[in-house]
Amino acid sequence: MKKNTTINSYAGFTIGPIYGVFSSARKTRELWFASYFFSWFMEKIIEQLSKNNEIDFLSPFVIKPFKSNESITGKYHDRFILQSSFNKEDLFKQIQKASDNTLDFFAELINSLVIKIGAKYIDGANKKTVRDIFNRYIQRNILVFDTNDIKLSMESTSSEKPKIVKHINTYLDSMEENRFFETGIQSKTCFICRDLSANIEANVWGKSGSNKKETKRNTSPSKEKLCPLCFMKYFAHMSEEVAKKISKNDFRFPTILDIASVELLTGKVKEQNPLFKDREKDYEFQDIEHAVRETHTKKEEADSLLKKAYPKYFAILQADGDNIGKEIRNIDSVSFSYSLFNFANTAETIIKSYKGYPIYIGGDDILAFVPVAFKDDDGKTKTVIGLAIELSEKYKEFVAQNTLKTTLSVGINIAYYKFPLSLALKNARKQLFEEAKKDEKNALALLLTKHSGHQIGFKFRFGSSDIKSFSELLRKTLAGDVDFPHSLHYNLSRYKTVIANIPNEERLEAFFDNNFNEPEHSKFASGINQVKNCFKEFILSVPREQSEQRNNYVKELLSKLAFIKFLRGEKQYE
Ligand SMILES: [Zn+2]
Repeated sequence: MKKNTTINSYAGFTIGPIYGVFSSARKTRELWFASYFFSWFMEKIIEQLSKNNEIDFLSPFVIKPFKSNESITGKYHDRFILQSSFNKEDLFKQIQKASDNTLDFFAELINSLVIKIGAKYIDGANKKTVRDIFNRYIQRNILVFDTNDIKLSMESTSSEKPKIVKHINTYLDSMEENRFFETGIQSKTCFICRDLSANIEANVWGKSGSNKKETKRNTSPSKEKLCPLCFMKYFAHMSEEVAKKISKNDFRFPTILDIASVELLTGKVKEQNPLFKDREKDYEFQDIEHAVRETHTKKEEADSLLKKAYPKYFAILQADGDNIGKEIRNIDSVSFSYSLFNFANTAETIIKSYKGYPIYIGGDDILAFVPVAFKDDDGKTKTVIGLAIELSEKYKEFVAQNTLKTTLSVGINIAYYKFPLSLALKNARKQLFEEAKKDEKNALALLLTKHSGHQIGFKFRFGSSDIKSFSELLRKTLAGDVDFPHSLHYNLSRYKTVIANIPNEERLEAFFDNNFNEPEHSKFASGINQVKNCFKEFILSVPREQSEQRNNYVKELLSKLAFIKFLRGEKQYE
């Protein structure tokens, strides 16, 4: 918009139901495209509107002239807010048109895919039916305000943009809460989501391993009936439109094991089995195990690689900025959107260099699949806790910039590679919104669900000394640089009440000296010392009178040690 042009209207737009579409994903690549689709949908609308000189975006930050997102990471939020010199009726029409064009675009994308892969429409469906289903299922809400009306409804004469953005956000929140969508007719429901009616028949690989005893892999796909959304999510990697969008031919989002076992799946190991390159077939951890043994012919070498538990576990990291709603009132919305935009780009680089795969990074909002830990090409071991610390620090640097009271909270869910994806996602979300963001926020909450079903969960505050010492202990133990004896955890558990009541540093030192002075402990000296430091940071920071809190801290620290031992692959912690 030209400078000094009168702003006559504001608008907000929101799209959904993102979590509805997420929940039915069985494979990472389906989940990826479910998320990417919404981001791409928003991008398409924003692209069309941003070319109009009468329109300026307040949130998110939109570069002019428009630049397409070529990354595989979705970058657009499920909502936008803009200002315009149009009157509100004309602005509404512009947004409606851009949104309808986008719906046409995706109906066409599906249609070309149906033709390309030789699938077929059933029950008399066609491109128009697909569009109709999208139109009913994809919830698009447009909200327009006349500049004078919005000031009236805010009961204020203020024209401060941050306040207007917050005001529109509140309206969009309530629109999202009041959504409903029509589901399919029972007899036609989709093979994958069982939610929408199915109109396309295609060859799909069935669920393998849903039955615990069933170890045989499916050898061929079967003809199944799918709804247009599941069809699109399942076959997106074969779409020419998608390839063009991300500038990658044949891109397939990696499987859970590709991500979790990154430390084991070296180039040489991958060459051992054609399954690792097959786009359709899933492989199991046993396939990696065989390949590792074929590559590393020395038994001890292969054993020590395969002993660790973490390559069988994947982590979902979800993050979200704290207190943004409060802070947004006090600052210029465009420069704030810009700082979020810069943070998102940096976060993407950090996650990728950690060999993780972001599904979505829209400003402060992050969702990524990452390995729990791995030895990097430089020989250094990295862990998901170190990753969370790095993201939190970058957020402070880019977004909070020493003036704003916003921090980043992170939820991490760690699960066995066969754990159901939709439940793992739900758990990550729970860790973020119900644990990390409870009370003071600026926290990391982590949940590990072992294959046995046993769970370990704990929480840290970012910037505290205990997260740093724990992160170091974890990293060094997994790297094999330090170790602590089995008896350590056992003895500490036995004396947990004694430890909880220790008055000062001197007595803590004495306790460790007396209990871990056997000759066999000498090779663990450095590990024992680091554990002692963790207790120091953690327990002695709480006054002795607060005995309940101290008891809880001791219990929590013991879970954290068990977590380290489990990831290292020690049998008794399984
Ligand atoms: Zn479906």
